[in-house]
Amino acid sequence: MSKQPQQADTVDLKKARLMANYEQISQRWQETNDVFIRLCRRLQTTLEMDPLLDIFAEEVATVISFDSLNYQHESQGTHFVYTVGFGGRHRCEYGLTLEGEPFGTLTLNRRQRFAEQELSLLEDLLGLLVMSLRNAWRYHSMQQAALTDAATGLGNRRLLYQEMEREIHRAQRHGSHFSLILCDLDHFKRINDSYGHMAGDMVLLQIAGLMRQSVRSSDACFRFGGEEFAVLLPQTPLRETVQVAQRLSQNIDQHAFDIGGSTIKATVSLGVTAYAADQKAEDLIERADRALYEAKRRGRNQVVSDPLE
Ligand code: GH3
Ligand code: MG
Ligand code: MG
Repeated sequence: MSKQPQQADTVDLKKARLMANYEQISQRWQETNDVFIRLCRRLQTTLEMDPLLDIFAEEVATVISFDSLNYQHESQGTHFVYTVGFGGRHRCEYGLTLEGEPFGTLTLNRRQRFAEQELSLLEDLLGLLVMSLRNAWRYHSMQQAALTDAATGLGNRRLLYQEMEREIHRAQRHGSHFSLILCDLDHFKRINDSYGHMAGDMVLLQIAGLMRQSVRSSDACFRFGGEEFAVLLPQTPLRETVQVAQRLSQNIDQHAFDIGGSTIKATVSLGVTAYAADQKAEDLIERADRALYEAKRRGRNQVVSDPLE
């Protein structure tokens, strides 16, 4: 009977000590000017690569002087490069890994040699950075997946709208221009009905490849949905876009589509339009779609532009 209050007292005492300890740590965390705590706190504020490296470069600069800092990593088809500052003859370079997984290379350059103490401090700071980099790369790959059509590897409709908004923004601010091609497979239902859905999927995959091959590296191809595709062509006037669309149409028309053991033919109809001032992304899609509909109406396997060329 008399034991219980004693046990309760001990527990309360332990709790009070823990709380006091926690308050001390918390106060130190809030007030300290220690580079490790500051870096740790700041790195948690973002999952984006550039702001993360800005924070790292700023915090490193408070304890180690440098002329330039560079970070590079290649992952999931993205070659990411970050650089701040310029030059410096002496260099220290670190390959960053976490649990055996590589997360890029960070290099510091400056005119004077780096001292051992500085390098050891930098290594400790990099230990904090690499954990945040892993989160940022994971976030990046999730974002990529959300904007990619898994079947063809092309950007999806969501990415197309995102990129169109960016082009519209650039056109409004800098007077640049761009064009859009919508492309729809002709009588695709017949292909599915005659050769099966799997054969249809193989055709879609090959169309995606032909699209990539038929446009310039500055143009971007997307799967708009189902058997419809789109190409966004920055800095390209209507006439040139019509030529690109015609080339694409020919390349598809001349291609023998491998459906596993045999080959079949397929054609597409294309609608082309160019950005005009004060248009919204939806307006542009609507105009390209109208041109595409006209290409279908005229007998398919051809290009129509809006306005008509
Ligand atoms: P049109 O020339 O008028 O465009 O005729 P169409 O048969 O291509 O057009 P319709 O809209 O009638 O049919 C589109 C077909 O595309 C029906 C649908 O099953 C097929 N399709 C859409 N997405 C996929 C896909 O991911 N894989 C396969 N195999 N077929 C698909
Ligand atoms: Mg369609
Ligand atoms: Mg179709």
